[in-house]
Amino acid sequence: MRRAIFPGSFDPLTLGHHDIILRGITLFDELIIAIGVNAEKKYMFSLEERTRFISEAFKDEPKIKVVTYKGLTIDFCKEVEAHFILRGLRNPGDFEFEKAIAHTNRELSEIETVFLLTSSGKSFISSSIVRDVIRNGGDYTGLVPKTVRVQ
Ligand code: ADP
Repeated sequence: MRRAIFPGSFDPLTLGHHDIILRGITLFDELIIAIGVNAEKKYMFSLEERTRFISEAFKDEPKIKVVTYKGLTIDFCKEVEAHFILRGLRNPGDFEFEKAIAHTNRELSEIETVFLLTSSGKSFISSSIVRDVIRNGGDYTGLVPKTVRVQ
């Protein structure tokens, strides 16, 4: 069983994440979307909302599970017996940041990080830009899956 986790904050899920997830499941038998819980961080959407946006977006895809986790991502991988971490790359900034994390994770464990390049046309999308558009009353609906809606 090739099981991977796709960790992130997903505050909220965007079309960029959606694209990486749909392409990622073709590589693995199971993909666990793991929403990291960091007590120090302030989120726009609650954990319940973030979970619901993702679960509803992928409700017809049996290979995808949605969970929340605390602590080190590699510890969570061991707990659920996942040997791979999936991450998306948008730009050189992502690459530098992700490279350091992937090297650290390899130093601490056997877990491999698999990177997918963002699809063209989606590299500009980030959760922080979506949050900014929402905060300022803009139309965010072209940047996120249909399941992401502000109440
Ligand atoms: P984190 O706080 O861990 O960066 P995010 O929810 O922002 O969590 O991102 C989770 C993953 O999704 C990261 O690997 C990030 O690079 C990737 N990602 C986010 N937006 C995009 C996008 N537009 N295209 C490709 N990958 C993306």
